[in-house]
Amino acid sequence: MGECELCGREGKVVPAMIDEVKMFVCLNCVKHGKRLYPVESKPTPQRQEHWSYGNKPAMFVPKKRPKPMFEEDVEDIPDLAEDYHKRISKARMGKGWDPEELAKKLFEKKSVITKIESKHMKPDAQLTRKIEKLLDITLREKPKDEE
Ligand SMILES: [Zn+2]
Repeated sequence: MGECELCGREGKVVPAMIDEVKMFVCLNCVKHGKRLYPVESKPTPQRQEHWSYGNKPAMFVPKKRPKPMFEEDVEDIPDLAEDYHKRISKARMGKGWDPEELAKKLFEKKSVITKIESKHMKPDAQLTRKIEKLLDITLREKPKDEE
């Protein structure tokens, strides 16, 4: 309740912008300007994303396919020894493992090991490193009887 700043009438007044001036006017005069709706009078319900800090979307979205650290991770090793298959099978048997056991330790299929040991397949760089580490051998040096 108050006094209209435009017509002076006593009664309910509301804030309004009249000619770019904020005034309290009656409901009859408010049509001459733009009624203001103070934010504090009607608290709007807050949206969930404004207060749910625990549920923030992650800023860092990991890529589905992580980029290999080195190019050779996805390529054949160029200096793979000619007798790599012999070295693997010799080292494997030295450990007393059958191809299946070696395959399990390398998280590979047994067919991969048998193909590699029969020289029907070259291990890629990643697998080569795994084999080298597991069997404590190197597959990259050239045999002594070669140049
Ligand atoms: Zn008025």
